Amino acid sequence: MQANYKICDFDDELAQQGAFIRRYEYLMWEQATPEVAGTNWEWEARDVGASLGMSDQAVLNRFLAVYTLQQMPKLMAVFRRYWHLDMRRILAISSALNFVEDAEAYDEALADFLTPRVENEDIPSPRKIRAFIAGLVEVPTPVEEEDQIWTRSNGDGRVAIGVITSTATAELIRQTLREKSASSERPLGELFLELIGGKVTINVYENTAGKLCRASGARFSHVEATWLREQAARRLLQRDEATNAYRFTPRMRAYIAGRDGHCRYPGCQVPEYACDIDHVVEFDRGGATSPTNAQMLCRRHHNLKTTKQVQCQIDEHAAVTWQLGQHSVTTLPGGPIPP
Ligand SMILES: [Zn+2]
Repeated sequence: MQANYKICDFDDELAQQGAFIRRYEYLMWEQATPEVAGTNWEWEARDVGASLGMSDQAVLNRFLAVYTLQQMPKLMAVFRRYWHLDMRRILAISSALNFVEDAEAYDEALADFLTPRVENEDIPSPRKIRAFIAGLVEVPTPVEEEDQIWTRSNGDGRVAIGVITSTATAELIRQTLREKSASSERPLGELFLELIGGKVTINVYENTAGKLCRASGARFSHVEATWLREQAARRLLQRDEATNAYRFTPRMRAYIAGRDGHCRYPGCQVPEYACDIDHVVEFDRGGATSPTNAQMLCRRHHNLKTTKQVQCQIDEHAAVTWQLGQHSVTTLPGGPIPP
């Protein structure tokens, strides 16, 4: 019997279709990836992103993945024989090797790791591939970057909250919560809230169907919605509010966040709470501080616009049209408030 991955099984029609898609997708990216020397990857990424409806970061990651793979001839030969690596696995390889200078030094080990040994072998998951590479390379010194917070819905009405911070801070938070929960019957979420202290205002929106939701459009459970309706102070938000000041008022921010839901740059899904409000026509060029001249932009895309690398316009329905290289792309607001 011949060693092969199950997902490459020649007698399995669906597996063969999968292999075809993996091959075709890789070849598309190989063609789209620019030469390393003499091109501006950021510009190329914007062009490719416009054609495929992807953020330029997602495109850049794929350029880098193709480039990394091309530095490893042995792995490439195995890949071209089996077409067993999908984009998730290729991205896992390239991100795990991101900080090493000589990807080719890992070529032989990876080619060997990603060659099947038995018949119908299970293909290593992206996580397993990352773990394998992590076992080969030196642990990098952490980069100095700002801490971040993220949330991820479990899809069952519960949400995971995470903080990206230094190993030491994370250990402190984990240990404090563990100690608190050991001496208390109260839920971990409540203890966490007590730990971070403070009082915040959250904006909750009523969509056109009369249901409560977040600016992202995500709904609340019936129990939560009932509780929130009891607690909430109602405000009617209006699009044509304006001020002479540079700063947007909290009411305007609530409106713009609820209208846009996330960053308005094509393909970008950074949620509104991690975004800045952008004056579409700059304030010092006469642009109004009003929702009619405002959009949510993540820091990265806000900088791109502020430094005039890209241009955009907003119309009366809050549709924003971007000029990206040779392409023009329009993004529509994605939040629960109709524009
Ligand atoms: Zn963005």
